[in-house]
Amino acid sequence: MVIGRRSSNERPTRCPKCGEAEIVRIAYGLPSPELVEEAQRGEVALGGCCIDDDSPEFRCKQCGHEWSRARAWDVSRREDGATEG
Ligand SMILES: [Zn+2]
Repeated sequence: MVIGRRSSNERPTRCPKCGEAEIVRIAYGLPSPELVEEAQRGEVALGGCCIDDDSPEFRCKQCGHEWSRARAWDVSRREDGATEG
């Protein structure tokens, strides 16, 4: 068994429902041509043009379960440096 070690730890490793390791990220918005090709290869899922707080972020390729990490995150955590005035 080989454990892939990647620099990014932001991605869940397994489906919280069935434990499947084949997980794809769900991309929202207008997909780029590259993103469309990735979706056709099953490397990413296209979630449509609209996203809201309830939109799932990941999809299990095994059972089709979709979920988001956002529920476990602090919603107030923002990195937007927008200032007004
Ligand atoms: Zn699953």
